[in-house]
Amino acid sequence: MNYAIAAPAQPSLPIIGSDLRFPIRRVFCIGRNYAEHAREMGATVDKSAPMFFCKPADAVVSDGADVPYPQATSDLHHEVEMVVALGGGGRDLSPEQAAALVWGYGVGLDLTRRDLQAQAKAKGHPWDVAKAFDHSAPVSALRPAAAVHVGADTQLWLDVNGERRQQTTLGDMVHGVPQIIAALSTLFELQAGDLIFTGTPAGVAALQRGDRFHAELVGIAELDGVVV
Ligand code: MN
Repeated sequence: MNYAIAAPAQPSLPIIGSDLRFPIRRVFCIGRNYAEHAREMGATVDKSAPMFFCKPADAVVSDGADVPYPQATSDLHHEVEMVVALGGGGRDLSPEQAAALVWGYGVGLDLTRRDLQAQAKAKGHPWDVAKAFDHSAPVSALRPAAAVHVGADTQLWLDVNGERRQQTTLGDMVHGVPQIIAALSTLFELQAGDLIFTGTPAGVAALQRGDRFHAELVGIAELDGVVV
């Protein structure tokens, strides 16, 4: 193929225990998937209607890489989340079909320009400028699903500068992974390479330049980085 300009690089993530990389197609995120976090944001969870938004695939930042403090905000927030990577796709899937598509797991930060999100909410505008900015999605190396058990007792946490900011077990999710994938598949035809951020627990707060973050999906994946 001859392109008129240089073709963009294919975003990808390392895989734990492998020299191969996981190519990223799209990045989907669910909002308000932990009741305590919805409450701290002054919202409630609508169990019948999960809400989704997207980030561009090239917003993903690999483990260990610096995260530049973004432009146009003075209130950058962390949201630690389990990230699910799909190895297959489809549309209008049942939860059973959806569960079979999970290729691997990681841990990520859904970085958010909270001031721009508040403005968007107040005006009824979309969330793109608050959520889908450059470098807004640090994600760990992925752990193949076949190698691990992820369940209701799996712990997820985030430390900033050695201090615990967010902590939960996955059992506190409102919508489980099969339900999230099935609901997304009623809106989009999912494909291999899609990543899904599965929502954040309570404790979201600001990050400053110089902050060091360490996130874990305990026993499965770890993510480190510095805001610069
Ligand atoms: Mn989030």
